[in-house]
Amino acid sequence: EAIIRAQQVEKFYAQPSANRIQVIAPTDLSILPVEIVALLGPSGSGKSTLLRMLSGLSKPSGGQVFWHEKPIETVHINVSIVFQSFALFPWLTVLENVEAPLKAVGVEPEARKERSLKILDTVGLDGFQAAYPKELSGGMRQRVGFARALVIEPEVLFMDEPFSALDVLTAENLRSELLELWQKKTIPTQAIFIVTHNIEEAVLLADRIIVLGRNPGHVRTDFKVGIAHP
Ligand code: ADP
Ligand code: ADP
Repeated sequence: EAIIRAQQVEKFYAQPSANRIQVIAPTDLSILPVEIVALLGPSGSGKSTLLRMLSGLSKPSGGQVFWHEKPIETVHINVSIVFQSFALFPWLTVLENVEAPLKAVGVEPEARKERSLKILDTVGLDGFQAAYPKELSGGMRQRVGFARALVIEPEVLFMDEPFSALDVLTAENLRSELLELWQKKTIPTQAIFIVTHNIEEAVLLADRIIVLGRNPGHVRTDFKVGIAHP
């Protein structure tokens, strides 16, 4: 059974010219338990828009997103999103950044700290808890981003171009570490949905790839590569 199912989901945006452009044509897709799905497509093809709709950040103009077959707006969903730009709080330490989502849901200070230190260790940031984001390299900052996303044990981990701001070597290292953690089931999440414009990244990481074409809402070819599910 699918964790997330998008049924004929579409999105229009208003343009300054008062026209509406269709960014996503009606699309069906599912995210299943225990899979990494990559959403691949050129810049502007609507990848972030689709991610926002699947993760509840934005409402489709038409169609419906279901979580466990219930309309997304009727259920509590537990998700995290990792962004290209890290989106850390610069005025908070590494530990405080990772604790922030736990604080937001009222976890007690002791438990917060314990869980945060554990996940920092998992992502290779043991000993960095007192540092501030500006003292860290890009790769280390994104490790903090991963720790902050994982600390709440999201059912689905969403990632929007998480490696695109990093140099090639750093990106490769982080990507293979992530895959290793996933394969060892160290990552407390049911599925990963990653947006990327990098074909190699999609092929190396994903169990399944969904491709958005260049012309959103027009000649959108939406095809799946590789082994879907036996
Ligand atoms: P991608 O992630 O593939 O680069 P996006 O989903 O970010 O694609 O954007 C697809 C198109 O929709 C782009 O033309 C973008 O400028 C436009 N767009 C995205 N979000 C908005 C918005 N909130 N308002 C208006 N236009 C938007
Ligand atoms: P909603 O459906 O709830 O109105 P949107 O899908 O419009 O939400 O998402 C708003 C998000 O899109 C914000 O994060 C905003 O920063 C981003 N955004 C706004 N305009 C654009 C644009 N032209 N291109 C890409 N992203 C945009």
